[in-house]
Amino acid sequence: MAETYEVIVVGGGFAGIEAATKLGRAGVRTLLVDVHGYHQFQPLLYQLATAQIGVSELARPLRSIFRRQPSVRVLTAGVAAVDPGRRTITLTDGTVYEADDALIVACGAEANFFDTPGARENAYPLYSATDATRLGSKLVALLDQADKDTEQKSMNVAVVGAGPTGVETAGAIADAINYVVPKLFAGDLAKRCSVALVDMVDRTLGGFSKKSQAYAASRLVERGVRLKLGSAVTEVREDGLSFADGATMDADLVIWAGGLKAGKLLRESGMPQGRGGRIDVAKDLTVPGYEGVYVLGDAANITDDRDERLPQLGSVAKQSGGWAARNILAQRAGRPTEPFGYKDRGYMAMIGRGSAVAELGRGRRLVRGPAAFLVWLAVHLALLSGASQKARALVSWIFAFLSHSRQHVFVGSPEQADVVERTDRPAA
Ligand SMILES: Cc1cc2nc3c(=O)[nH]c(=O)nc-3n(C[C@H](O)[C@H](O)[C@H](O)COP(=O)(O)OP(=O)(O)OC[C@H]3O[C@@H](n4cnc5c(N)ncnc54)[C@H](O)[C@@H]3O)c2cc1C
Repeated sequence: MAETYEVIVVGGGFAGIEAATKLGRAGVRTLLVDVHGYHQFQPLLYQLATAQIGVSELARPLRSIFRRQPSVRVLTAGVAAVDPGRRTITLTDGTVYEADDALIVACGAEANFFDTPGARENAYPLYSATDATRLGSKLVALLDQADKDTEQKSMNVAVVGAGPTGVETAGAIADAINYVVPKLFAGDLAKRCSVALVDMVDRTLGGFSKKSQAYAASRLVERGVRLKLGSAVTEVREDGLSFADGATMDADLVIWAGGLKAGKLLRESGMPQGRGGRIDVAKDLTVPGYEGVYVLGDAANITDDRDERLPQLGSVAKQSGGWAARNILAQRAGRPTEPFGYKDRGYMAMIGRGSAVAELGRGRRLVRGPAAFLVWLAVHLALLSGASQKARALVSWIFAFLSHSRQHVFVGSPEQADVVERTDRPAA
């Protein structure tokens, strides 16, 4: 007999945490399962990879988040399968749990390499704290190697994907080359380092306004980021990239920020998959044909009141989690569910020191430059989970900004981190 809970939540990301928190406050017997014992704040992963913050700033133990909610049980385990018809989950060790009232699937997404030859083997994705740690270790190892190199070779980084993640990552690496490397390394190492941002589309920050796109491109170029836009990457090699237009680019490190897709759990769930392999959910966030089954956040294709598809954003995930909990509580009280009412607060992206763009609210009011930089810092500080995480992040930001130095280290080599990467996730 499977152990039963009133609600089961798969995934302790923005969506899963928000749902479990609201259910926990209402005293609902909830099981929250995540393969990691911690919640990770993905918007700051590029800062972890560039040692601006440490892992304990963006990751928070799930058990600590729910320590005052006795009706929520946190389980650190990989979910191997979900059965939406029976509202059951099966862990990788074969244990089965059943949900009486509702099953919430909020398992996020994974890097989409779009079957680009060599990308999975040679590129570094940036989707988890493990990815960021592995990438940071690699960056440090390459800098140390270039520093020792008697032939004074160059150290080139290429970032694939010029969306917000790619822009933020390329900008942060450029800032490190411009400000941190000259301070921490002797000689002319900074002059031998470069970063390029590449994308098949001919603009940065897709989804933002043309003004924001132009601003981001100009600020990146100003920082020394080489832009190669408008040509698809056709191969990722150990030593660089090949493009559809016949060009090639040397790179000691390729970072993949090229997009997301649904993971194996959704692919094998039998639920109807839509764009990106995500599950097309109804207006009330349930899966059509499966009573009491909700798919949220990055795992779902969610539409707003204008029938427009919402992007894969922390705010969408968090609000969808809260709304699903509200609908579950309504159903338990015998009331009907309600369509998701998304509050659109806009988009923002950090380009680097003193430069950011924010398009605020549904009207997309444009803020750029130092003002947007401060808005970005304030919003991300507010969104971070946990008071001690916020305090530590603030100290790290102030230290990094004022000192042009780094106080965080990566323990282990990129290869060691790679082993963790392959073993700490459920099979993809
Ligand atoms: C690098 C990066 C930068 C971003 N920057 C921003 C930003 O600036 N602003 C913004 O709004 N959004 C940003 N986003 C998007 C935002 O982080 C996501 O939209 C949001 O995290 C999605 O939340 P989620 O709860 O759906 O999934 P996730 O946060 O991905 O959480 C999913 C959870 O499910 C767990 N899980 C997955 N599979 C299993 C399994 N089989 N068994 C058990 N557990 C499992 C994972 O461990 C994870 O904890 C960024 C994303 C990335 C990757």
